[in-house]
Amino acid sequence: MSENMTIPYKIYLSESEIPAAWYNVRADMKNKPAPLLNPGTGKPMTAEELGGVFCEELVKQELDNDTAFIEIPTEIREFYKMYRPAPLVRAYCLEKYLDTPAHIYYKFEGNNTSGSHKLNSAIAQAYYAKKQGLKGVTTETGAGQWGTALSMACAYLGLDCKVYMVKVSYEQKPFRREVMRTYGASVVPSPSDTTEVGRKILAEFPGTGGSLGCAISEAVEVATTNPGYRYVLGSVLNQVLLHQSVIGLEAKTALDKYGVKPDLIIGCAGGGSNLGGLIAPFMGEKLRGEADYRIIAVEPASCPSFTRGKFAYDFCDTGMICPLAKMYTLGSSFIPSPNHAGGLRFHGMSTVLSQLYHDGLMEARAVEQTAVFEAAELFARVEGILPAPESSHAIRVALDEAIKCKETGEEKNILFGLTGTGYFDLVAYQKFNDGVMDDYIPTDADLEKGFAGLPKIPG
Ligand SMILES: *Cc1c(COP(=O)(O)O)cnc(C)c1O
Repeated sequence: MSENMTIPYKIYLSESEIPAAWYNVRADMKNKPAPLLNPGTGKPMTAEELGGVFCEELVKQELDNDTAFIEIPTEIREFYKMYRPAPLVRAYCLEKYLDTPAHIYYKFEGNNTSGSHKLNSAIAQAYYAKKQGLKGVTTETGAGQWGTALSMACAYLGLDCKVYMVKVSYEQKPFRREVMRTYGASVVPSPSDTTEVGRKILAEFPGTGGSLGCAISEAVEVATTNPGYRYVLGSVLNQVLLHQSVIGLEAKTALDKYGVKPDLIIGCAGGGSNLGGLIAPFMGEKLRGEADYRIIAVEPASCPSFTRGKFAYDFCDTGMICPLAKMYTLGSSFIPSPNHAGGLRFHGMSTVLSQLYHDGLMEARAVEQTAVFEAAELFARVEGILPAPESSHAIRVALDEAIKCKETGEEKNILFGLTGTGYFDLVAYQKFNDGVMDDYIPTDADLEKGFAGLPKIPG
């Protein structure tokens, strides 16, 4: 930083600094992420096969490992202008509270009604569906952030939106459901009697509260059996990481204005989309040998895909109908313990991040949920924002690293992703406040059960 340039609390960019193109980190990867495989044939999924489920343009983006920059259509940039650029905040209050020499920055993506970064990809996916002349899209939602983001995007473009919401969440999170309905989405508790797979599951398990895997199966069935509909997914896929690169591109532009280079970049990892987006331009520099950054993915100790999973081909859904992806996985039958309250419960991980982690280009750390909520509470009190439990995984590690800097006297620049707000997660906060939250870490024997179900891939 030049001597007389004081860094403001918030580094705002102007509208014209919203990126004009998404950055595709795959273009700079020497070892490309492994292709999706057709579970029937064991062969890489073709564009034609994927086109039955996803929109054409999104299939192109999914399979494109070579184009570094993909232009963001004007219509999407216009939508981005309603809530972007997202602020990059210098956490002066937190630094002071911790009495650390570290400089802490966070990129805040909770500044829209859906309350998370998911809107960045929702609008892109809805836009390409509309452009293809489709009537609507289907999806699943667990906690509800993705369903909300997609509902907003579809309302803006006049697309029909059918959301299959895991039944327990549908009942426990009526407010999320009503937000989605307000934006015009139809929200169906899953399993439902509106699909064949739903009726089958209901017949077999009449009282079931549903699961993400089951909701995916229903959403895919509806998309593939109704003309004019396609299925969309809020994380994990290459296209989603591509759209989320706006997070990292903006963060880098803001930091570059003040000549700040992050030493450490930290993000929570569920399916990997926000982290993949945040690190994209930095990882690009690292892959091209232009700069070096330490990057840490943070995951729950109760769902430790990176730190204890296997790098193998697996199903993305519990229903085993989706293509196989090579990723760090706990097995598609793995379900985190019922007392797990902090989100990030997907059993696998983006194939892009899995490959980068496998190649030693990033690290991963697992944290326990009570420590995560302690970090969330401290952050809320000191920085003012009520963080989503998912985001609080990143906060936990940022705090730990800033405290380390205090011990060593190092003036490191720490950047982390604050992916969203926690207003709809107050049942989890209540557990923490009442002192009834505990930590369950799966045993090796628990994990073996999930690994036993990994598909056998020839070769
Ligand atoms: C969905 C979500 C995540 C995790 O998903 P990724 O794809 O790993 O980014 C993190 N934070 C919030 C607020 C979310 O809604």
